[in-house]
Amino acid sequence: MIDHRRLGRELDLFVSDPLAGAGLPIWLPAGAAARHAVEEYVRELERRAGYQHVYSPPLGKRELFALSGHLGYFADDMFPPMRLSADDEFVLRPALCPHHALVYRARGRSYRELPLRVGELGGMYRAERSGVLGGLSRVRAISLNDAHNFCTLEQVGDEVREILRLIREAHAALGVRPSGFRLSLRGPGARYVGDDASWARAEELLRAALDGVGHEEAPGEAAYYGPKIDIQIVDAAGRESTLSTVQLDFDKPEKFDLSYTGPAGDRRRPVLVHRSLVGSMERLFAYLIEVHQGAFPPWYAPVQLLLLPVDAGQAGAVAGVARRAVDAGLRVEVDATGSLGARVRDAARRRVPYVGVVGAREAADDAVALRLRDGRSLDPMPVGEAVGLIGAVVAARSGGLLPAG
Ligand SMILES: [Zn+2]
Repeated sequence: MIDHRRLGRELDLFVSDPLAGAGLPIWLPAGAAARHAVEEYVRELERRAGYQHVYSPPLGKRELFALSGHLGYFADDMFPPMRLSADDEFVLRPALCPHHALVYRARGRSYRELPLRVGELGGMYRAERSGVLGGLSRVRAISLNDAHNFCTLEQVGDEVREILRLIREAHAALGVRPSGFRLSLRGPGARYVGDDASWARAEELLRAALDGVGHEEAPGEAAYYGPKIDIQIVDAAGRESTLSTVQLDFDKPEKFDLSYTGPAGDRRRPVLVHRSLVGSMERLFAYLIEVHQGAFPPWYAPVQLLLLPVDAGQAGAVAGVARRAVDAGLRVEVDATGSLGARVRDAARRRVPYVGVVGAREAADDAVALRLRDGRSLDPMPVGEAVGLIGAVVAARSGGLLPAG
């Protein structure tokens, strides 16, 4: 398997420039197009599952992260605070939960609103040592697919099972093949917040949600505020890391004094579930680039259809085909320079799923001849049919190149 850094360069997906800083990669247009398609998909998956999306800033006052406990437990992994004046210090956030706790707290909540699912694809920062940084897999600026689900203790089991179902659905669409599920528990020695009874209850709830799912237990791998389910992946070099995660937290609702009104008008404390379906965009793409060897499924391929006129005589016809494909929602490019053979080889090097060749006959017939990335060639077909064929594969988010059936 080829390292994602090499493929990232060859396919113009992202660049790491020492002038910008180590661990701060820049997404180039091709990488950004693929990421945009994935972000749209995840947001829509969450919307259908009852999530409400918000925007919050990637930095906040020092007091916010003192209250959340991050400055106490996590300061070594954070960038040092930025001081504007003696009583005005800001930190780059290491997590989104403090802001989402403020979303919950923005007004009074009733038990009828729970579970309240607050989602955001948001920026957060880790002061990683420069020696461990590489490509997209370990970065200092992280774009996390994150959500915080506030619910009652009775709802936790169903909520976690539903999150695991969404994780499986997203993995299937993206082509993620997890190496394993891990139940991360408290271990000896490390610092944890919360009392023993809450930890025992939380561990029991997660274990129950994993009933029937093969998993291993990892003492000492829990977050400082609660146990979690981690879904692991393995990279090209054989290194294991966590992609998706579901974490229980009895602590932050306490720290932020979060509450809801129960059926009898009494005040109650919600439970917080932190979850990420597909992890950070950086780690996800490091993995996807390697596992697909740059040949992404058509629905998130940077360019889905590359159009090649056989010679200059078809320039007008090809521009018309491109217009129709773009209007149908496809990502399209035209390559008109150089020999046809060289252009077909370049399309293969770029792993473009569909190449549309237009010669004099196709131009006259309003047709296009499709060549698929796997080497198959289809007979010339009407342009509308070709655009419809590609659109159907994209809409189905299928891993294949032709519509099923
Ligand atoms: Zn969180």
